[in-house]
Amino acid sequence: MSVFTTFYSAFGNRCPRCHNGRVFENNNPYNLKNGLTMKEKCPNCGLKYEREVGYFYGAMYMSYALQVGLFVILYFLNSIWWKLENLTILLIIIVLVISLFPITFRWSRILWIAFFTPFDKTLLKGKND
Ligand SMILES: [Zn+2]
Repeated sequence: MSVFTTFYSAFGNRCPRCHNGRVFENNNPYNLKNGLTMKEKCPNCGLKYEREVGYFYGAMYMSYALQVGLFVILYFLNSIWWKLENLTILLIIIVLVISLFPITFRWSRILWIAFFTPFDKTLLKGKND
């Protein structure tokens, strides 16, 4: 599992196995109608995204890691450059975590799938012939 292929699929809403099919119905995470709706399986390679009931509970760890990473980066930047008061930086972090929720939700699920499903180069469109 290469880090680059994993993040490519997470950021691009692509199936971690084939990098062609989409994981979520809509590419826009802020679409209120279906921005957080997942497809059942990959339309290209047929990978079933939710392997078993409760499979995505593990994605909460990914979500936690992403949000703590954001928290640490902002706190580090603040202590070096911005020098804002603790309450101000806390409010900024809370607003960012809430407003970025649809993105972290999607990335954490795709990263969780990619954690167990390696990228298969032979499934790339046009490269397996
Ligand atoms: Zn696929």
